[in-house]
Amino acid sequence: MSLLVVGSVALDTIDTPLGRAENALGGSAVYVAVAGSYLVSPVRIVGVVGGDFPSEAIEFLRGMSIDLEGLEIVRDGKTFRWGGKYHHDLNVRDTLYTDLNVFEHFDPKIPPAYRKSDYVCLGNIDPVLQQRVLQQIDSPKLVVCDTMNFWIERKYQDLLNTLRVIDVLIINDEEARGIARETNVLKAARCILDMGPRAVVVKKGEHGALLVTKTMVFTTPGYPLEEVHDPTGAGDAFAGGFVGYLAKTEDLSDENLKLAVVYGSVLASFCIEKFSLAGLEGLTEGQLSARAKEFQRLSRFDGV
Ligand code: AMP
Repeated sequence: MSLLVVGSVALDTIDTPLGRAENALGGSAVYVAVAGSYLVSPVRIVGVVGGDFPSEAIEFLRGMSIDLEGLEIVRDGKTFRWGGKYHHDLNVRDTLYTDLNVFEHFDPKIPPAYRKSDYVCLGNIDPVLQQRVLQQIDSPKLVVCDTMNFWIERKYQDLLNTLRVIDVLIINDEEARGIARETNVLKAARCILDMGPRAVVVKKGEHGALLVTKTMVFTTPGYPLEEVHDPTGAGDAFAGGFVGYLAKTEDLSDENLKLAVVYGSVLASFCIEKFSLAGLEGLTEGQLSARAKEFQRLSRFDGV
């Protein structure tokens, strides 16, 4: 099975109460691809970077067996840079700058070898571009999609058109409310199901995630961690774990979607334990399944 990931490839400068990372490899496509690479192969990235993109970052991604044929390098341009600062409450972060650089005119081109990708994860790019990506792919088995407030506010109609052609929308609670124009998150998720997707996953940071389909509601807790160093990319790592698990198991039943949410939560929990991508380096299958079992233990109780 193959997974195609489209989205930002960035150099992030991140400040948290526990430290700082400067010009570290980041971007939504990178976090999704690295997390997904533990579960499915090949993983392919479509994104754009500038001539300043470090060769170590390329080597790192190749080392994770990620196919970079779709990574466009604009030699005379600069890579997208994002700066964020987290508060003492790590759920709150300020974006210090967003220098789009070459990402501003990103026009995803799908190499012929990627046209037959089975699973697709669309990062939070312009919904018009998300549709253009799908037009270039031959009937994928599953399309997972992310978005953000910027597009909900500025390109609502285009976003509705994207929702008609995707299978799973993964968003946070504020985005769910914004899309559905409904304050209650469960009602919002149900309303989004009527717009097209067969499943909606609402991420609630340290409070876990909610999965809603026409026939089921399921929640997982956030994994209780004593040390969170850097929440950057948690949502994208979640998406990578989620879609990676579905690609690995090739089972889109409600029961298996639940397990995909658990695997998404597992990858997100590893991601935030260390700075930038360090938490997603060198994981083993045993570590992933041990943590998935921990999730099971944390949520199970008897005697009712
Ligand atoms: P998350 O913590 O899940 O929101 O993901 C953070 C990642 O998204 C960082 O690595 C950033 O480089 C990237 N990012 C931040 N702002 C944007 C944006 N406007 N468009 C695309 N990617 C972004």
